[in-house]
Amino acid sequence: MVGPVEDAELTSGSGFWATAAVGDVPAVVLTDGPHGVRKQAGGASLLTGSAATCFPPAVATASTWDRSLLRRMGAALGAEARALGVGVLLGPGINLKRSPLNGRNFEYFSEDPLLTGALAAEWVLGVQGEGVGASLKHFAVNSQETDRMTISADVDERTLRELYLSGFERVVRTARPWTVMCSYNRVNGVHAANNRWLLTDVLRGEWGFDGLVVSDWGAVVDRVASVAAGLDLTMPGPDPRGDADLVRAVADGDLDPELLATSAQRVRALAERAAPADPGETFDADAHHALAREIAGRAIVLLKNEGGLLPLATAGQSIAVIGEFARTPRYQGGGSSLITPTRLDDALAAITAATSAPVTFAPGYGEGASVAEAARVAAAADVAVLFVGTDQETEGADRTDIDLPATHLELLEHVVAANPRTVVVLSNGGVLRTPWDTTVPALVEAWLLGQAGGSATADVLFGTVNPSGRLAETIPHRLADHPSYLDFPGEAGHVRYGEGIHVGYRGFDAREQDVAYPFGFGLSYTTFTYGQATATADENGIDVRVPITNTGDRAGHEVVQLYLSLPTSRVRRAPRELKAFEVVELARAQTVEVLLHVPRRDLAFWDPTLTQWAIEGGDYHVAVGASSRDLRTTTTVPVPGDGSRIPLTADSTIAQWFAHPEGARLLEEALAPLTSNGGPLSGMPLRELAGGMPLSRLTRLLPTTALDQAIATAVSRLTP
Ligand code: BGC
Repeated sequence: MVGPVEDAELTSGSGFWATAAVGDVPAVVLTDGPHGVRKQAGGASLLTGSAATCFPPAVATASTWDRSLLRRMGAALGAEARALGVGVLLGPGINLKRSPLNGRNFEYFSEDPLLTGALAAEWVLGVQGEGVGASLKHFAVNSQETDRMTISADVDERTLRELYLSGFERVVRTARPWTVMCSYNRVNGVHAANNRWLLTDVLRGEWGFDGLVVSDWGAVVDRVASVAAGLDLTMPGPDPRGDADLVRAVADGDLDPELLATSAQRVRALAERAAPADPGETFDADAHHALAREIAGRAIVLLKNEGGLLPLATAGQSIAVIGEFARTPRYQGGGSSLITPTRLDDALAAITAATSAPVTFAPGYGEGASVAEAARVAAAADVAVLFVGTDQETEGADRTDIDLPATHLELLEHVVAANPRTVVVLSNGGVLRTPWDTTVPALVEAWLLGQAGGSATADVLFGTVNPSGRLAETIPHRLADHPSYLDFPGEAGHVRYGEGIHVGYRGFDAREQDVAYPFGFGLSYTTFTYGQATATADENGIDVRVPITNTGDRAGHEVVQLYLSLPTSRVRRAPRELKAFEVVELARAQTVEVLLHVPRRDLAFWDPTLTQWAIEGGDYHVAVGASSRDLRTTTTVPVPGDGSRIPLTADSTIAQWFAHPEGARLLEEALAPLTSNGGPLSGMPLRELAGGMPLSRLTRLLPTTALDQAIATAVSRLTP
């Protein structure tokens, strides 16, 4: 018998990693995510998984800017999930990188919502193409770990829509994830888990989401309020008390039985979708390791390469490898995404295998390590490759600074002094500032790269892979420069998103601040030149074409980025917003014409006055380049608006009336008796002097029947 009791039981888990099997509805296994399948191994702790490929975390995959790589990684993850009996993989994590201090930034893609959403959609399509569900998380505005279960992210609606929800909207609309995971935090005061506006009005009502909403593990504070808000599945379970609360609330008329029945139905639908794999299904660990290596190689960002120090020679050049991370890689972050890898490559072994010249090693930091010895080893070699980075980044805690750990910094200073031909390789999940970079000729940002990161790093160092990674987040000179700095991580239960829409590069650009390495930046071993961009607009959006030529001496990938702005906008906008990007692979001397398409919908901004999306007409400025601050070609394109305008009322200001073509005419007519020669307003610069005055106020100051009547006529004709 289907009824509230069974429905309630279905809407809470049966344990940590499965839904409840009730009647003929089978259980569904849900596990993390997002860069590997962490299926809890029998008898192991909650967070220990059986062996699976540890792909590069999102901090790295985002730096590839390559949709096809994300799709292939998703498919590989889906295949592993099936083989391990997992029905839903808990990812991707797509919260915006609001602050570089967020301890979980390594699990997230970018400070830009388009890059985030476009790449995450491919991840979802890849996973779900294998018959495994994704869980888009953490919905929403979960951009810090400090007080993550209680903090209220206080964000104005325009910022919410254009920045923090935008990636979710893109993925929901284009990739249709089976599930969305609500976040722990509150959004403008209301817990995401019982935020009906978020989980129902926006997610389902506006975006058409038809899947299941699952709670983050432990996010639910009140089962009845959650079901009422549109949260379907509470994890983990079981939760007999909450089940009983739901049954009682239905019986007492405090909860619409339809809501509970609908949530239970969504759990049934999920169970039907997540049909188990054939017994004996396996995955190809070698092929997945190779894919992890390919993605990791493409994720590495070459930040500096003076005098062509890189790529290294594979013979005749002795190499000192310094730093424990070369031998004991940092390749993933802590917390629920921690994967037990199928194998683990280290850079020291990969470098040693790649060259016929002598390779020496010194750990430099860590137990018993000596800086002096490392400096001696570095001095004796032709080139030193120094591995430094963050020691630990984890879910559950934010970082307190963005500096290299003191021991690593000390080592860096000594090694560089001992051998000026030093290549620094960074391992880190969140950005590090690099005030010391003037002292080193070559700098490689190698993030956390997953289990094949060691060999991928060697691939880039020796040029087997030509680096093409681009920064998905700005590297600032100082933490205090960052737009989020003054309002992170908040206090007294609230974090105010005071920088508004000016997240990441939008903020640095708006303040015209110098940065260490801008959003979108990354070098190559070859060079590319850009021809003149041409742009056209039609009802589908804007198409921009630009010829790109590989002018260097080897093949390579270029990440072509399109930024838009509308200087005449009626609202404050960021000086540049990423609106399209394409990765192209070019042989030596090859030229291709790259087409960058901006769908018309992506031209919309959230109009806070109209409380709706609006497309303004005007001459849009188009800039195409190799980074947000290396714009190689620009053009403008006229775009018609959608006709939306702020409706005129008696309380609209005089300036607003004059800005309205029909309103201006009517108002001029109405005011004529007052402004004409001899009238009380004759010769008065009304627009300048009283532009901000609501019209209704003017009629109070100058109460004339004629004006009253004229205004009443104008209002009745023009207000909706
Ligand atoms: C994390 C989620 C994760 C869940 C299950 C939570 O603490 O925030 O990202 O999917 O645990 O492990």
